Amino acid sequence: MKACPICGAMHPDEQAVCHCGADLSRVPPVPARPAAPMPQGPPAALGYGPPPPFVARPMGGPGWPPLARREYSWTDILTILGFSAALAGYFWAGVLLLPLGLVASIIGFRGPNRRGLAVAGIVVSAIGVLLKVMMMLNEAGLLPYWFTDGILFS
Ligand SMILES: [Zn+2]
Repeated sequence: MKACPICGAMHPDEQAVCHCGADLSRVPPVPARPAAPMPQGPPAALGYGPPPPFVARPMGGPGWPPLARREYSWTDILTILGFSAALAGYFWAGVLLLPLGLVASIIGFRGPNRRGLAVAGIVVSAIGVLLKVMMMLNEAGLLPYWFTDGILFS
């Protein structure tokens, strides 16, 4: 084979003139690139044998990623304790439990988990503290009548 120097068309060695008119007589022949032989025969003869057998590794052995454990941090514990204390403070020892629940819930909120429960604890304990303070002031007679009275009843 030889390639035309003008148009690049391939021609047999014996062809003297290209269809474009170029003289091919002095063009050196280019060895035709032999087509890559298609692999023949069974896969084992081609160098890639049967796939390696699947070997099950034991669970938790080497190579396994560490199990994702749900870790309880101090903020989680404080969140749960804070919410529980806030609820309990409505029934018993509100003066002690409600501020405790508020503080614990605020600290628990700064942790990464259980934000919703921490917010619930903050809201419940804050309302409880407010109500408790109001009741204490009312019982002590420190609230003015215009504050404690409603519209219909006085
Ligand atoms: Zn040509």
